[in-house]
Parts: sequence; C-alpha cells; structure tokens
Amino acid sequence: MNGYPSGIKKVIENLQKLPGIGVKTAERLAMSLLRRNKKESISLAESIKDMVENIKYCSKCRNFSETDICDICSSSSRDKETICVVEQPEDLFAIERAGEYRGLYYVLHGSISPIEGIGPEELGMDFLVKRIKTEGIKEVIIATDPDVSGEATSIYIARLLQGTDTTVTRIALGIPAGGHIGYADEITMSKALEGRRRIILE
Ligand SMILES: [Zn+2]
Repeated sequence: MNGYPSGIKKVIENLQKLPGIGVKTAERLAMSLLRRNKKESISLAESIKDMVENIKYCSKCRNFSETDICDICSSSSRDKETICVVEQPEDLFAIERAGEYRGLYYVLHGSISPIEGIGPEELGMDFLVKRIKTEGIKEVIIATDPDVSGEATSIYIARLLQGTDTTVTRIALGIPAGGHIGYADEITMSKALEGRRRIILE
C-alpha cells in the first residue's frame, strides 16, 4: 500500500478487517468511495456510525433493535405462545421474509461449539428457558443451521425442556445439510417451517 496518503491507507486497513474483504477489494472500495459523490460517501460513513451507536440487543429476544424491546416482541398481532430459536439475526430476517411465521423469536448469536469455546452460557440458554417457562410458551421451534453445532444446539435445548409442557420441534430439512438458514429462499423456508417435527430424545 505504499504511495497512498495515510488517510486512504487507514480506510483500506479498516475495510480489510471486514469478513471476505481482501486487500484488493479494500483498495477498490476505498477508491470508489473517493470517486463517487462526496455526499453519498459521507452519508454511508454516518449511517454506519448511527447503526453502531444506536442498535442494541432486544432485552427479550436478543435480536438487534433500536429500542429496549424490539418491534416483533412488542407487537400485539404475534402469536405469543410460540418461540422460534435461530442462530443469527439474518436467520430471523429470512424467516420473516417468508412471511408465514407469526410467533416470537430468540436469537442465540451462535451455536454450541466447544472448539470455539461457545457453550450454553454464551448463548443465553438460561434466559431462554426462563422465558419459555414464565411466558407459558407452548411450542419452541428450533431453526438452527443443519450442521454439527446447529444439531448439537437443537438437542441441547430439547433436553433442557424435556418433561415440561412445551413441545420442541425442529424445522424440516428443506435446508441442505451444512447450509445456512439465513440464505434460504422464501419457499424453502416456508416448507421447512411447515414440515417441522417434534424432537424425540433417545
Ligand atoms: Zn425482541
């Protein structure tokens, strides 16, 4: 990056910290930010600042929200007896896009992975179970990814709720094994939800 003024170098270095952005892409993006309409580039920078400063976690479902309790949790038109557990906010948005699900959510922000040091505590499992019990939730739909840690997470939650009145279901495998819920199209997502099955523990 020799030859770049330090202001450009700094932007390139910061862009490279983002996932999937190598040095070449970072350079291209920085150049494009300089070449395009000045107002647009400043607006982008300001919107990033606003987002980072104002978005927090919903205190009920841990989804990203501008308010203490998000729009979905505070909506009176949602089915308050069903919770869908997802790994990431992107997964929640993919389910919302499909437009069929009317219940509530819980966002884990990850899945159980001993190798990465992610256990039930990091995923807020205690809070989830407390919420299920105190709010009289009738069904918990587990929509974690169909990979090893997603499956382990699903079984873990089913075990936590074993013997309670809450039914635990798992979305159907319309989502390819190893795929991500967040990438599923609307039809696949609707079918996966529709074909959900009760988790039977051995
Ligand atoms: Zn919420």
